[in-house]
Amino acid sequence: MEDCIFCKIAAGKIPAKKIAEGKDCLAFPDIDPQAPVHVLVIPKKHIKSLDEAGDLSIVSKMYALGLQVAKQLGIDKTGHRTVINTGLNGVQTVLHLHMHLLGGRTMTWPPG
Ligand code: AMP
Ligand code: ZN
Repeated sequence: MEDCIFCKIAAGKIPAKKIAEGKDCLAFPDIDPQAPVHVLVIPKKHIKSLDEAGDLSIVSKMYALGLQVAKQLGIDKTGHRTVINTGLNGVQTVLHLHMHLLGGRTMTWPPG
């Protein structure tokens, strides 16, 4: 989709360090990390948000790639957090479905 920053990253039009890649998904570092490990996992195809992800099969692929990244970056044994922000109240700022993978420190709860 034109004017979508994550579509541009998926197409290689905006540089991002590829941490891992599957047929349908891509993982790259968040530009504004909130933890020692903060990776975004996106579908390569433009999907606006979780509630527009159809049969949700893409979500299991995103989680599978996220778990692979967690192992790759050594946060599989220590635990980590995955977050998908959706819509206005979810404070989704980029309207291309993405999953945050956060780790490397103890997270706080409840979220703000
Ligand atoms: P959300 O609030 O869930 O929509 O999160 C969007 C995330 O995308 C934020 O954590 C931003 O720091 C991140 N972000 C925005 N632009 C880029 C970019 N060009 N490369 C990597 N991460 C980005
Ligand atoms: Zn997009």
